[in-house]
This record gives sequence, C-alpha cells and structure tokens, in this order.
Amino acid sequence: MEEEQKKLLLQIEVLKEEDPFTDPGHASDNAAVDTDVREQVGHDTVEAEIKDTTKRLEDLKMAMELLKKGRYGVCMRCNKDIPQARLKLVPEARYCIECKKALSK
Ligand SMILES: [Zn+2]
Repeated sequence: MEEEQKKLLLQIEVLKEEDPFTDPGHASDNAAVDTDVREQVGHDTVEAEIKDTTKRLEDLKMAMELLKKGRYGVCMRCNKDIPQARLKLVPEARYCIECKKALSK
C-alpha cells in the first residue's frame, strides 16, 4: 500500500508539471486569446485530475490508518469483511460493494 501511495504522489507531481499555468512562459504570452482559452481548458483538466488523485491518496492514507487499528478490509458501514478481490482492485476501499452502491445512490 505504501508503494501505491508513492505512485499517487508521483502522479500528482507529474500532473502539476502538465498544468499550462505553471509554464513559466505563460505570463508573457497573453497576446492570443485562443491560446488562453486552450490553456484554461488544459488547466481545468489537470486540476480535476489532481483533485481525483489527491482524493485517492487521502483514501489510501485512511486505509493505512485502519490497517494500524486492525480495521482494514472491514466495511465501515456494515462491518462485514470486504472481499479480497475488491481490495486487490481498490486497496483503499472502505466499503463493501453493496454499501458502496447504496452510498453512491
Ligand atoms: Zn458494507
């Protein structure tokens, strides 16, 4: 799981570099409006991805906390064990599939 965390941190770093707003040349080339629009779209996309990745990272941290408490792999809603197959796919899962479905409704 710590490996996964490192991967996500790295992903955030990469995404930040992709953000056109962090391009040092950005401030000086404000002449063309369409370039600005394109940069804005790129910025929004990157920002959304960073948000997603940050959320996963937080979930992962939470999962590691649960692991320390010996509560990892137990659904936070119904207290049933989360199937191993699901944990393999989503290491930060905090709910079993049924509860996840019920919560996302
Ligand atoms: Zn459950």
